[in-house]
Amino acid sequence: MNLRHIFLICFFNCFIHTGQNKFGIVIHGGAGNITEESMKDPAKKEEYLRTMKIALDSGYALLERGGKATEAVMKAITILEDSPLFNAGRGSVWNSEGEVEMDASIMDGRSMKAGSVCGVKKIRNPILAAHLVMEQTPHVLLCGNSVEQLWVKSGGTLTPNAWFIDTTTWLRWKQRLHKKHGTVGAVALDKSGNLAAGTSTGGMQDKMPGRVGDAPIIGAGTYADNNGCAISCTGHGEMFIRMHVASHINDLMLYANMKLSDAVKKIIHQELPKINGTGGVIGIDKNGNIAMDFNTPGMFRGYKHSSKGSEVLIFKQ
Ligand code: ASP
Repeated sequence: MNLRHIFLICFFNCFIHTGQNKFGIVIHGGAGNITEESMKDPAKKEEYLRTMKIALDSGYALLERGGKATEAVMKAITILEDSPLFNAGRGSVWNSEGEVEMDASIMDGRSMKAGSVCGVKKIRNPILAAHLVMEQTPHVLLCGNSVEQLWVKSGGTLTPNAWFIDTTTWLRWKQRLHKKHGTVGAVALDKSGNLAAGTSTGGMQDKMPGRVGDAPIIGAGTYADNNGCAISCTGHGEMFIRMHVASHINDLMLYANMKLSDAVKKIIHQELPKINGTGGVIGIDKNGNIAMDFNTPGMFRGYKHSSKGSEVLIFKQ
C-alpha cells in the first residue's frame, strides 16, 4: 500500500464519518386536531398522502441531482402551496374579514441568510417571495404591499383573489363550520452538507387582520444553521414566537450537546405545554438525522432520505 492508497482510505472514511454523502428532505403539512375520525373519507386521506408524496419526491429528485437544500425546500413548498388541501398559498384560511394574509420564510444554513414575507394577499407562492427577499434585498422581513411591489418589479405577476377561494370551503367558513389546519414546511440537507428550512402559511383562521404568526419569524417558525439543524414549525404561532422554538432547538444541540430528536422532544413535550403551546416541528441535522414530532393528535408529515427511505404519515404512530 503506497501513500496514495492511505490518503484515499482516510479521505473515504472521513467522508463517511461526517455523513456528508447523506441527503434528504422532510416536510410537514400542519399539525392539529387531525384524527382518524376527521379523516374518515378514504379519498380525502389518499389525496393528502399523494400530494405530500409528490412534494417529497420532487424535492428529493432535486437533491439527488446535486441541487441545493434551499431549492429542494422551495420545490416541495410550492407544490404544497398550490394544493387547496393545505393552509398555505391556494388553500390559505381567511382572516376575520374574509381575506387571505399569508406569511412565509426561508433560511439557508450555509450563509445563515434568511428572507421572510408577511401579510401578502396576491402572491401565489409566498415561499418564492421570501426567497426573493433573501436574495435581492438587504432585509430579512418585508410585509404586505412592499412584497407585492418587489415581486412585480422582479418580473412576477399578481394572482387574482379567485385563486385563493374554493366555494365549498368558503361557504363552510361563512357558517364557521370549517376549521382548517395545514401550514406547510420543509427542511433539507443537500449532498454538499448544506441545510435549509422554509415555512409557508395562511396563519390562524379568523385571525385579526394584520396578525403575524411564527412562520415568517426567523428563529420562531423557521431556522437553519449548518452547524446544527434545520427546523420548520407548525402550530399556535403566538406560543412558538414566545418560545423561539426553531432556534431554541438548534441552541440545545449546539450548547447543550443534545441530539436533534431529544432537543425536539424537550421543546414539544416539556417546554411548549408550560404555556399551552400546541403544534409540531420537523427537523434535519447536519448528519442527516431527522425528527418529526408533535403534541397534537396528528401532523401531516413525511420524509425521503438517501439512507432511511421514505414515509408519509398523518396520525400518531
Ligand atoms: N403557525 C401558524 C401560525 O400561527 C399556524 C399553523 O401552523 O397552523 O400562523
